[in-house]
Amino acid sequence: FDPSNYVPQLRESWSTDGGDASYALLTRCFVLVSSTQSRIKIVDTLVNCIRVLIEADPASLLPAVWLATNAISPPYVSMELGLGGSAISKALKQVCGLDNRSLKAIYDRLGDPGDVAFEAKKKQSFTLRKPKPLTIKGVFQSLVKIAKTQGQGSGDVKQRIVDKLLQDARGGEESRYIVRTLCQHLRIGAVKTTMLIALSRAFLLSKPAGTEFPTRDRGELAKLKKEELAEVWTKGEEIVKACFARHPDYNDLVPALLEIGVCEELLVRCGLTLHIPLRPMLGSITRDLSEMLTKLQDRDFACEYKYDGQRAQIHCDAGGKVSIFSRHLELMTDKYPDLVALVPKIRGEGVDSFIMEGEVVAVDRSTGELKNFQTLTNRARKDVAIGSITIDVCMFAFDLMYLNEHPLLDRSFRERRDMLRSLFIEIPHHFTWVKSLDATSQDSETVLEFFKSATDAKCEGIMVKILDNLPEMDYRDSKAGLKSRRKALLATYEPDKRLDSWLKVKKDYNSSFETLDLIPVAGWHGQGRKAKWWSPILMAVRNEETGMLEAVCKCMSGFTDAFYKANKEFYDDGSESGEPKNIHVQKPSFIEYAGHPDVWFEPQEVWEMAFADITISPTYTAAIGLVQEDKGLSLRFPRFMKKREDKGIDEASTNEFLAGLWEKQEAKAPLAKNGVEGD
Ligand code: ATP
Repeated sequence: FDPSNYVPQLRESWSTDGGDASYALLTRCFVLVSSTQSRIKIVDTLVNCIRVLIEADPASLLPAVWLATNAISPPYVSMELGLGGSAISKALKQVCGLDNRSLKAIYDRLGDPGDVAFEAKKKQSFTLRKPKPLTIKGVFQSLVKIAKTQGQGSGDVKQRIVDKLLQDARGGEESRYIVRTLCQHLRIGAVKTTMLIALSRAFLLSKPAGTEFPTRDRGELAKLKKEELAEVWTKGEEIVKACFARHPDYNDLVPALLEIGVCEELLVRCGLTLHIPLRPMLGSITRDLSEMLTKLQDRDFACEYKYDGQRAQIHCDAGGKVSIFSRHLELMTDKYPDLVALVPKIRGEGVDSFIMEGEVVAVDRSTGELKNFQTLTNRARKDVAIGSITIDVCMFAFDLMYLNEHPLLDRSFRERRDMLRSLFIEIPHHFTWVKSLDATSQDSETVLEFFKSATDAKCEGIMVKILDNLPEMDYRDSKAGLKSRRKALLATYEPDKRLDSWLKVKKDYNSSFETLDLIPVAGWHGQGRKAKWWSPILMAVRNEETGMLEAVCKCMSGFTDAFYKANKEFYDDGSESGEPKNIHVQKPSFIEYAGHPDVWFEPQEVWEMAFADITISPTYTAAIGLVQEDKGLSLRFPRFMKKREDKGIDEASTNEFLAGLWEKQEAKAPLAKNGVEGD
């Protein structure tokens, strides 16, 4: 084994003493990944790092994958590090021998805690003891220990672990990534999809010693034509992505890969499993009904009310155990004991185990009238006792993905829906089906009526879903080509995919309300593709009386990549030109907002924003006191329209103007009367 075959840059950080893989190897990989914006280079670097681990130290691969994806457990297993920023500051002061003032000076200059650690480590003038080189396994185990340490005295134990990590970190880069990991903001721009692609490629090329699965020879692959090579990669990627969409847990995926590599069998090993949430299928947005009808051509489709609640995935096994998961795969069984209690009653004859999906909506129990999403957000998140429930909910089921030990994902939507409706028992105002209408593009009038009835019933619009697969094409056949399958309008349930076979048609953005002229005041580091830019961006209105800028919403919609790029160059934290400009590291005193953006902008621009509606908000301070004593107003679905070059910030919309719009909206349709918005 010679790691230099894989990536020369990684060689220097590889310790060849046969011990556990060093954290230096992973750090080197992070440095290389963050030094480029090229997706190809990022994937290549990850592939090389993974290959080194597969061949030389397979036991370090799983911890490396967790560290590179900046997590220690899947989202449905609650493992919080529970570290305050002060634990890191304390450790830096202690390890690097800095006092409060000098640490603060570095922090004010750099802003990012990881960069601060890099700088502080450089200043370190002495070491208390000889550091022990960090290993990938060791760092991961320390994180798990931090998360598991709870109760009295846990703060001290956690602090000691953090101190030790920083003590043992060799050089600035290791410190930077240890601190970013502890802050849970790694900023390497390698997200889930990149990791899955890298894993699939690495396992097509490498296998651990002693395993038998077939791999491809790199030299042989190099001789393939471009399209042939793309097909090899795509096939592997699709298998790994499909596994992770059905069974999103590296703790199962990585050991299976180490044992059998990338093959069809992997889908059996890491397939749909009760009590492990699958990643939900997503809808594509359409501008309006006519665009929707054009997209669906001559196919049969179902229109469904798009309820304004919380998506829920309910799992029930043959023993009656129930788990409920959110859209983002968090376990929320404790939030809905009323739904758990409902499950035995809705299970029809012959139903043993199932996974179903629907929208949980706040309702008036006696009339069944729908309440808005804001009302639902008033329900506590955890450990809700059934007797103390004040916000009643109804589950509007729309899909069935698993029944009696059999996955149903490959069945058509019509078949899945028929099973859902015939095998489960409706309990009015508690458990029912989404309201729906089957149609074709010939029925535009009826569809329009249905859309209107949905918005009248306080729904957000409609979801439109293809009912049947076309018989002439086997969409599962990978030879059919990715592009044609994407366009094929599948009626199957495609976890984690946003295809045109599910379309969202929402209430019109532009015509329903006026726009607002808002001031961008802060930003967060973007995720994934947007990692180098500010996204979302915090927007504010002006309070003429106090001179304060009051935060009204975060916006991440309506921006082009070119806009994001220019925006980052304008509000530069120093990463663009080396010299910070137009930013504040600390929150300026004239901005009213309790959240913690990564950077504050020097307010100077006015942007025109469209939005769907105005809601009462516990988080945003805009117009606080004008509509409700202790709550402000916020915007739902804010979308950037254009820069108002002709306006200075003194001409931006005021809190009073916003409150006036809210009153107008309420007079038209009392949408947000009872509730508050979620953030
Ligand atoms: P997405 O979930 O597509 O990423 P998002 O979180 O912004 O986007 P929306 O654009 O509001 O959500 O639309 C999708 C959501 O609509 C679903 O995740 C689900 O919670 C909700 N929904 C309501 N009614 C239905 C329905 N009949 N079928 C599918 N989803 C529905």
